[in-house]
Amino acid sequence: MAAPSFDTHDVFNQSPPYRDVDLFLSDRPLQEAVAAFGPGDGAALSAFGRRWGSAEMLDLARLANSFTPVLRTFDAKGFRRDVVEFHPAYHALMAESVGEGLHASTWQADGKPAPAPAQVERAARFYMAAQIEGGHLCPITMTRASVAALDVEPALLARVMPVIASRSYDPSFRPWTEKAGMTLGMGMTEKQGGTDVRANTTTATPDGDHYRITGHKWFMSAPMCDAFLVLAQAPDGLTCFFMPRFRPDGSVNALRLQRLKDKLGNRSNASSEVEFAEAYALRVGGEGRGVRTIIQMVQLTRLDCAISSAGMMRMALAQAVHHARHRSVFQKHLADQPAMRAVLADMALEVEAATALVMRLCRAFDLAATDENEAAYARVLTPAIKYWVCKTAPAFIYEAMECLGGNGYVEDSILPRLYREAPVNAIWEGSGNVMCLDVLRAVGRDPEAARALLARLADNDASRGAIAETGKILTSPTAEMHARAAVERLAVVAAANALSQCAPAEVADLFIRMRLGERRGTMFGSSAIGDDNAAKLLRRAVPE
Ligand SMILES: Cc1cc2nc3c(=O)[nH]c(=O)nc-3n(C[C@H](O)[C@H](O)[C@H](O)COP(=O)(O)OP(=O)(O)OC[C@H]3O[C@@H](n4cnc5c(N)ncnc54)[C@H](O)[C@@H]3O)c2cc1C
Repeated sequence: MAAPSFDTHDVFNQSPPYRDVDLFLSDRPLQEAVAAFGPGDGAALSAFGRRWGSAEMLDLARLANSFTPVLRTFDAKGFRRDVVEFHPAYHALMAESVGEGLHASTWQADGKPAPAPAQVERAARFYMAAQIEGGHLCPITMTRASVAALDVEPALLARVMPVIASRSYDPSFRPWTEKAGMTLGMGMTEKQGGTDVRANTTTATPDGDHYRITGHKWFMSAPMCDAFLVLAQAPDGLTCFFMPRFRPDGSVNALRLQRLKDKLGNRSNASSEVEFAEAYALRVGGEGRGVRTIIQMVQLTRLDCAISSAGMMRMALAQAVHHARHRSVFQKHLADQPAMRAVLADMALEVEAATALVMRLCRAFDLAATDENEAAYARVLTPAIKYWVCKTAPAFIYEAMECLGGNGYVEDSILPRLYREAPVNAIWEGSGNVMCLDVLRAVGRDPEAARALLARLADNDASRGAIAETGKILTSPTAEMHARAAVERLAVVAAANALSQCAPAEVADLFIRMRLGERRGTMFGSSAIGDDNAAKLLRRAVPE
């Protein structure tokens, strides 16, 4: 008798997996933005893009999010351990990112900013890494940003900088002074207040050359970092501190990890609730200057939130376009069905804008130290761009998911992970309203510079109209009530301006028409882009 066959059907009309792609060379808008605002080293970025777009990296990302971190509070005999264990895939991702300098490449060996185009070059890499795995980028971004706050303590910075700048990832649980490389985290948010850090109740008591910190943090991510910048109330007010995991005598410092958050996404990354029981810490900046000190760090983490959200949108778009080109419905590829082309093209236009905008912002960071206009750009637009890009991403990724139909809702497609990851970028490092209020504050602090910035951004009729309205709102007595509308407009105008500097004129003009001119519905696919333009946008988005 013949063996029964288990081949019950042929599998066909499924799109091939989207992997082993060069994330740089397959992304025309990114290449153009890097060329215009850098320029960056295309060959090196392509090597990075091939590595991060490989099937192997996608697999590491899947594993790191399937086997999530575990808190080991005690050992078998009841002694405290306070360590978090990660899957080897997480460590492999960290080693890749650290090896590429994502955690430090914008700094020179002495902790001073690296010359342009360091920000743009790193941002291109960060954008590509975020397409593959967002969770591990949390300690990566905090480590690179911490240097900006440590700048006020040159002696401390000189000691830590060689270990931070190292390209060796060293996950061992030892004092940072003995390690080949280190990572840093940040502890600001307490139970009674995250945005309002002045409500922090954690105390700092001077004790000779250091302080003893007692209290808690309600969110402290990446708790296996080697040190944290922590806010606490010192005798003269809220102050920033450097809190290592080990005391100088080699004993484990008094950070008690209470619990790991059970989060919507960001699952490869651990986020802890922690208590400090007279933990050893060094002051960073003057007493009472905690917010001013740590804001230097937060400015950079906000930038990274925007870059990574743009990256996630890019990956969602690429998945959607790729699938639609291979999947036939009613004898025609989805990518050739007019209603689907309208959706994909509208999304491609949004990614063009987000990508141009974050890279333009990085150029401002690259030049801010020597160019007042660029400094004003970074000051006013960092919160506006974080607001707009990070809040666009979740709905965008959902729409991309739907392009894949049922497959998009299933984990193997990667879209569910992107979808769960996206909202956190809008929440942490200053949530939506807080970003809008920050724009108001930046405008209020230097109205002249802000007015000049708005004038520079408004380089076409539609933008001039939008900016005139926005400018009025931003400086009106009811600005807070209308802040979201004004800040969104501001970001869209800035995106149009960025596109006009890096993309073909027809793309910039289309964006201006679709986002500042004609009325548009609230869903992707409701812009009147037209078939020719759709074809161009899709060819630019993902090569056929
Ligand atoms: C996964 C994850 C990891 C995190 N990791 C860290 C970490 O490592 N370190 C750390 O310090 N924190 C961390 N956080 C905390 C995060 O930064 C805060 O949750 C965030 O800043 C918001 O603070 P909150 O939760 O206290 O909300 P609140 O401050 O209570 O804000 C709630 C809402 O009110 C809005 N709001 C606030 N003020 C105003 C106002 N004046 N007018 C209008 N609206 C306003 C906010 O926009 C927000 O939408 C993490 C959070 C998450 C989700």
